[in-house]
Amino acid sequence: MLEQIERYLDGELEPALHAEVHAHLAGCGPCSSHSEFQRRLKELLREKCGCDEVPPGLLERVRAVFSEPGTG
Ligand SMILES: [Zn+2]
Repeated sequence: MLEQIERYLDGELEPALHAEVHAHLAGCGPCSSHSEFQRRLKELLREKCGCDEVPPGLLERVRAVFSEPGTG
């Protein structure tokens, strides 16, 4: 599910799956907070580096710093 949420946030899911994840987030607290965390993280990184593409290594390091809340 969490992997799908990442792709959902990136807009990579096909429409049917996108709607499915969207519905799940509406009714699932942990997944909802996870998606909110991911979204803020991406926004933050975008501001910091001024680019859309975040280097994978950097993302992992920032995640470690922020200590991600429990998984859904
Ligand atoms: Zn969930």
